Amino acid sequence: MRDIELYRHLLGIESPWTVTQVELNVADQRVDVWAGHEERVPWTCPECGANAPVYDHADERVWRHLDSCQFRTLLHARPPRVQCPTHGVRQVRLPWAEGRSRFTTLFERLIIDVLRECDIAGACAILRISWDEAWHVLERAVRRGQQRKTRRLPARLGVDEKAVAKGHVYLTLVCDLETATIEHVAEDRKRASLEPYFERFTAAERAAVQAVALDMWAPYEDAVRASVPNADDKIVFDLFHIMQHMNEAVDRTRRTEHRELKAGGDDRLTGTKYVWSYGEENVPDMHRDRLARLTARGMMRKLKTTRAWSIKESLRDLWKCRSRVQAERHWQWWYGWAIRSRLSSVKKVAAMLKAHLPGVLAYFRHRVTNAVSEAVNAKIQRIKKMAYGFRNREHFKTAIFFHCGGLDLYPATY
Ligand SMILES: [Zn+2]
Repeated sequence: MRDIELYRHLLGIESPWTVTQVELNVADQRVDVWAGHEERVPWTCPECGANAPVYDHADERVWRHLDSCQFRTLLHARPPRVQCPTHGVRQVRLPWAEGRSRFTTLFERLIIDVLRECDIAGACAILRISWDEAWHVLERAVRRGQQRKTRRLPARLGVDEKAVAKGHVYLTLVCDLETATIEHVAEDRKRASLEPYFERFTAAERAAVQAVALDMWAPYEDAVRASVPNADDKIVFDLFHIMQHMNEAVDRTRRTEHRELKAGGDDRLTGTKYVWSYGEENVPDMHRDRLARLTARGMMRKLKTTRAWSIKESLRDLWKCRSRVQAERHWQWWYGWAIRSRLSSVKKVAAMLKAHLPGVLAYFRHRVTNAVSEAVNAKIQRIKKMAYGFRNREHFKTAIFFHCGGLDLYPATY
């Protein structure tokens, strides 16, 4: 009798439910607990809450619950079915589990917590559940969260692409820059990847968008222009993508120059790929001496890569300007330097920026960058690396919403 009381407390089972039987199986390391209910309970219809008489009892079902001292704990019960005048025969709502779940709410919450911290295989090992069970909980949690989510078009958005596989396979991600949550995930990086996101909202809601940070990528620009009124005042080509283009220009300069130098037996640029890619104040200690030597006075005239690097560093200063006027002045000066640099990769970036200048300088009105979505992007990279065992792209998308959607994932308790 004592373990019946104990398990009633452990499982939090309250009237009209009670624990009727507990069986401990030491060899199998499991505890089976049976719940039953009192007679003459005023059951209600799960749909409308109307009082409804018992119709019958469903077959016994089993729910996995939180372990008791490492013993797998299984709750058994026969859920009553009621006859509602409006909704017909329905199974009553059970206090310990959601509709069709094979886990109690508390165990499902634990699964969600563990899945947030590790990959699926890890969660399966810790919780002694199967891959499919874990995945099912994750998927249900996302669906539940999305149903609860209030429809809202964020005022400040970041649009980003994510390479998901080799060979130009991309996903398009829309991030709420204020909450740092992923709002939309779509295949590819086409206009049609982004436009349907906006189509879910009314014209008035779309007009309320204040700023959209994105890369200089025509399909995205087209989608925003087609969807957001006065888009040209709202598009901000953001610092991170611009610096990414500039870093690539430095790297292309380095590769070409390295080949030329090496042909003449000069290996000054050997192993310097990463030396150039940091912002000057963030260079890791391991690269610091090398960078100092390569950028020392006099070296600049000799090495094209050093020149490209200086131009890159000077471009970064654009975003440190305090006003648009100051930024325009810096831009003029920088552009003159870059376009006359005789470095073809650098000139290409300079020309691209000039063609997109209003959107580059729009930063000084909206002050948005994709820094937030870059951080989310790094998280998504980790999700990808977790060897999640995604069996298809849909699974990957679901996992993105699970980890980055800012959703309310937990099953409800009654
Ligand atoms: Zn009803």
